[in-house]
Amino acid sequence: VPKSCYKPAARAERGGACRALAVISTCAWLTSGPVVLGTASAQTSEPTAMPAAGVTHLGRRTDGQRPLLLPVDLDDDDDDGVADDDQIADVPREDLVELVLQAGDGPVKLVPLGELRVIRRGIAMPTPATLTQDELPVPIFLQARGPSMGGRPLALLVSRGGRTTRVDFHAVELSLLDANNRRLAPERDGLQVSRRVTNDRSLPRTTRYDARSPDPDNVRLQIVDAAGGGKVLTARIESLLPVRDTVRDAIELRLTRPRIGLPFRSPFVRLVSDEVDRHAPGVAGQVLQVGLRDRLRIVYRSDLGEVTQQLRVGRPGDEDGPRAARRARLRAVVMRAYPGGPPVIGVDDASALRIVRDEVAIANEIWLQCGMTFGPPSETAVTITDSPGATLIAVSDGDGLPAAGDGEIRLRVDGRELSPIRTRPEATPMQTALQLEIALEQAGFDAVVTVNPKTVFGAHSGADVLVRRPDGRFVELQPVSGKTLSSDSRQRITVGRVDLGDGLAEFDNMTATGGTLEERTLIKALGDGDPSTIDLFIVNRFTQGTRQGEAFIEGSAGPIVNTVVLDRNGLRQRQTAWTMAHEIGHVLLNHPLHPDNVGPDQPSLLMDADNNRGTVNGPKRLTEAECQRVRRESGVDASPPLLRRHDARPGVP
Ligand SMILES: [Zn+2]
Repeated sequence: VPKSCYKPAARAERGGACRALAVISTCAWLTSGPVVLGTASAQTSEPTAMPAAGVTHLGRRTDGQRPLLLPVDLDDDDDDGVADDDQIADVPREDLVELVLQAGDGPVKLVPLGELRVIRRGIAMPTPATLTQDELPVPIFLQARGPSMGGRPLALLVSRGGRTTRVDFHAVELSLLDANNRRLAPERDGLQVSRRVTNDRSLPRTTRYDARSPDPDNVRLQIVDAAGGGKVLTARIESLLPVRDTVRDAIELRLTRPRIGLPFRSPFVRLVSDEVDRHAPGVAGQVLQVGLRDRLRIVYRSDLGEVTQQLRVGRPGDEDGPRAARRARLRAVVMRAYPGGPPVIGVDDASALRIVRDEVAIANEIWLQCGMTFGPPSETAVTITDSPGATLIAVSDGDGLPAAGDGEIRLRVDGRELSPIRTRPEATPMQTALQLEIALEQAGFDAVVTVNPKTVFGAHSGADVLVRRPDGRFVELQPVSGKTLSSDSRQRITVGRVDLGDGLAEFDNMTATGGTLEERTLIKALGDGDPSTIDLFIVNRFTQGTRQGEAFIEGSAGPIVNTVVLDRNGLRQRQTAWTMAHEIGHVLLNHPLHPDNVGPDQPSLLMDADNNRGTVNGPKRLTEAECQRVRRESGVDASPPLLRRHDARPGVP
């Protein structure tokens, strides 16, 4: 009942009979029958219309009505970690029935029978309770804490002046059972999308009452309804987006029981995250698509009305358990094919943006298996940009050799010639890079030195100097005409630039941890330098065409971390190779290898390297161990934390 219905009634009570008509018109839409308004109508010369202890529900008198339907309020609608039927204050109203105790002569006494609670102003009232005459009329709410059973009726007795009105209730229990037929507790449990191949044998096809599910994440519906006379009933489960009441997916379930007196049970249901799984062959009616923090709502309709209960996917982000919701931040950089040209994906900037956002949506679906998201695709930061030119100086790229100390470094920066820098005997690449940094800063440029991981064959670690103008724009580095960049007889100086005309030169096993000079130039120039975000670069192709994506992970301890480079073919293979989700997996897992590198081939795994089927058998599954590893390596307590708390409850840090 909307508040507008009983509040005018209260005004009418104070204001006298003439206002009652206005009240009737306010509430009349709720019911086709006569509207009874307690004292208000008594004052309009109908003294017998309302018994002494007047009680209305939806504007109608409750005497002699059929029982009012209630769900046993086992869920946790306000997500506060306390089951609604255990909550003392601020009890959520979703699953309560409202009654209005009408005004009249003398106090009203309330006596609930059975597992029924009386809630007033959100607070569970100690009962029996007495309400004085001047507290009336008043709305109260009834909540069921247990199902109606044959010998266990639920009723509220409302007495005034020696007369008693009895309001009967019928309570049904709607719950989800886990793989072992144990009831899930909404205040403690969260649902988990399956990590198995959707139509494999770990989803029982049987309707057997005591069947168990080999997949621990499958659930089934159980309903206790003492009024359900036969052995079959039906109910619906639906997934609702976390923010609005928008239905994402819904399935009808047929519940059965072997004999009268037992609860009804549905077959097992598998929760999945994408359309391919939702339409997996052979399991129609047993698969429900969900998203992170969706509400799974059970909807049960009987002759007495409709009741619902709900349980959410994952747990609130302020929790620390394996199902607490987490969010990683992605930052995408789409390269232009040539300066000022079109982006390397799509036909224009708008379509490139759309492709990236679609990829983020797919990654969200895949990584839902670990209870995490990359956020709404529309919120992902996407930059479409020209390649950086000659803006990076590499000292001893690859070989890491120290200087002989017998030469000079000669450079022009934006056309200006730097004073020659003499190399020093046995100077490591880093020491030479620091000399360059000082010279560049004295000449008014910004220079940043980074040290690369030592290559397999390197003497020392190589070092790079990224050079910018003071306003942050890139410079153009050139040799001085007629001179080599360095005349040192042992330590080489090279200039890094990105030229995607022939693709991006990819790393090989010798350079894997640090990347090639071209990759380092791209990433050091355009990366955000924040190791707690995942930088995603999209290029046209890799020069040698040996891969469609690569990942720079933290375990390599180089200056480039938590970065993924994808070529446009990697994106074309979306939903077949799930390339982006796979490469991000290397970053989140902080692991460069694939399961099939170190163990038996498991082609349905996301981190498998050699499967590209786009079907339900495609490479998209994560294991529980992988999800645990992500939370350990990249979780909120890791350094840097790639995951943040998602959908934390207000007031909880
Ligand atoms: Zn891989």
